[in-house]
Amino acid sequence: MNQSVRVRFAPSPTGFPHVGNIRTALFNWLFARRTGGTFIVRIEDTDVARKVEGGVEAILDGLRWLELDWDEGPEVGGNYAPYFQSQRLELYREAAQRLVSQGDAYYCYCSPQRLEEMRAEQVKRKKPPGYDRQCRDLSIAERSQKETEGITPVVRFKAPLEGQTSFNDLIWGEVVVENSTIDDFILLKSDGYPTYHLANVVDDHSMAISHVLRAEEWLPSVPRHKLLYQALGYEMPQLAHLPMILGPDRAKLSKRHGAVSINEYQVQGYLPEAMVNFLALLGWSLDDKTEILSQQELVKNFSLERISRTAAIFNTDKLNWMNGVYIRSLSPEDFEQRSLPFLDKELPPEVKRPLSIDYVRQVMPLIQERARTLAEVTELAQFFFVTELDYDANWLIGKDMSRESATKALEAGQQKLSQLKVFHEASLENVLRPLAEELGLKTGQLFGMLRVAVTGRTAAPPLFQTMAVLGKERCLSRIKAALAKLHELS
Ligand code: GLU
Repeated sequence: MNQSVRVRFAPSPTGFPHVGNIRTALFNWLFARRTGGTFIVRIEDTDVARKVEGGVEAILDGLRWLELDWDEGPEVGGNYAPYFQSQRLELYREAAQRLVSQGDAYYCYCSPQRLEEMRAEQVKRKKPPGYDRQCRDLSIAERSQKETEGITPVVRFKAPLEGQTSFNDLIWGEVVVENSTIDDFILLKSDGYPTYHLANVVDDHSMAISHVLRAEEWLPSVPRHKLLYQALGYEMPQLAHLPMILGPDRAKLSKRHGAVSINEYQVQGYLPEAMVNFLALLGWSLDDKTEILSQQELVKNFSLERISRTAAIFNTDKLNWMNGVYIRSLSPEDFEQRSLPFLDKELPPEVKRPLSIDYVRQVMPLIQERARTLAEVTELAQFFFVTELDYDANWLIGKDMSRESATKALEAGQQKLSQLKVFHEASLENVLRPLAEELGLKTGQLFGMLRVAVTGRTAAPPLFQTMAVLGKERCLSRIKAALAKLHELS
């Protein structure tokens, strides 16, 4: 095992962490844990204008929820602190200064307005976009003239005009780029903040990062980074760019595909272990067929070699299926514990709080088989808790039956049930099956009507178990209410 693996998750708090961000975090975490390396969180907060309030907290909460613990970074500190780029500005300024004095970078005094006009002109002439290098070779006199005008310059990198830049990516292989396609990009903005390129390179070097695992969208930035590493005399970390994540329609993943911020998945009742499993398979696989892998199994088997170049498809149906698998594999106690906060929050206020744990304990096994998310638990279990059921009275009339025959059947059921001493699954079955026959009904007809009467739904957990949990009193009062509803039907 390589003890010197140091990887980082370097989010920008310009929004709430989405699936793509967290997939990057997870792959870095898995790689660190697999190799006995170090997982670092570094907050890239140099884009002051796009910073979002609460963004950092949301990122850290997301990591905590998925139990992706970090060895260095916010809150935990570390030998390479600080881990917020906004607190490391001096480092970037020094690097920029050094590049200027070495002749690898220069001050640019062009106004935003001039750059705007230049861009418009490039578009008009169908020329490739990029800075036209007007300030690249200013004479000393020209420079001091600009200085006396009081213009605060930016610092730009002096990209080579000829030749090629090449690098190796562990996933994409050898990439070669013509230097003529690389413009003199900005290193330091006029507000004194670095651009992503400069800060990223300086920090990956100064934090001794060994491998950079990040999304494919950053691949085009590598040639610039490579030039910077060379000019600064740093060794470039190894690179692995993770494949894109697309929606099932192969368009860029968005809310439209049901993808939301990672924090939202928690609210919607996804289990963190299912989420980790699902995210791990967005671009990595064990063997092209195994779907269910615990966090432990993932750590044990993760490898960069099994990361694919093919875009991963984000499929909410698969996530829901997987979450259902994880829900069903929970112990009844665990399922109950995890469901309680959802029930407590989502059940209507008329349901007395605190909820009766005894009752919840009886209800939950009937729900565990069916819920795909914890948020669904409330929806599926609601009828167990509320006093009045809201449903269409017509559902009470069984197939090929009339209001009269339905009424008769329900009355007969009411009568039988009221005589029952023990109200459990077997005793209910023992009276209700023969009753169907007595009434000349198919069991489906009678049980269907009873199901609607006691649950208010046409599909519910197995009838006798459900009735046993609801208890005699509730069932009888619900059948009574059902009869009243039937009566009101004209
Ligand atoms: N701050 C960049 C982001 O938000 C980091 C890219 C990188 O990992 O280099 O994705």
